[in-house]
Amino acid sequence: MHEMSIAMAVVDQVAEAAQAGAARSVSRVELEIGELAGVVPDALAFSFQLACTATPLEGAELVTHPVTARARCASCTGEWAVGMPPELRCPDCGKADAVELLAGRELRIRRVVWEDAREPIPEEA
Ligand SMILES: [Zn+2]
Repeated sequence: MHEMSIAMAVVDQVAEAAQAGAARSVSRVELEIGELAGVVPDALAFSFQLACTATPLEGAELVTHPVTARARCASCTGEWAVGMPPELRCPDCGKADAVELLAGRELRIRRVVWEDAREPIPEEA
């Protein structure tokens, strides 16, 4: 399952940082997830709970921030919300060959809230 490997990667990364900072436990993990990242939030939340078992993240809350997918057309410089299923043809000039994806594939840790740490966890890893 796609979400399980993502959850395990996130937990690994946060657990390592928690250990490095001597944090006793992690109370919250916030993720930014792009519309086009192909992640099902419910499946990720479920996988996250499993992946946290027996780690400093056990019992941590997972907060996901959806990121709207946006694209830009290099021909006419128009910008639009890509939506789902993704619309990758410029709504202004109809071209699809000069389209740049500005946002929507994010999958990153925005913030980690932890306890008893010496140093704050870096905002982005
Ligand atoms: Zn255009």
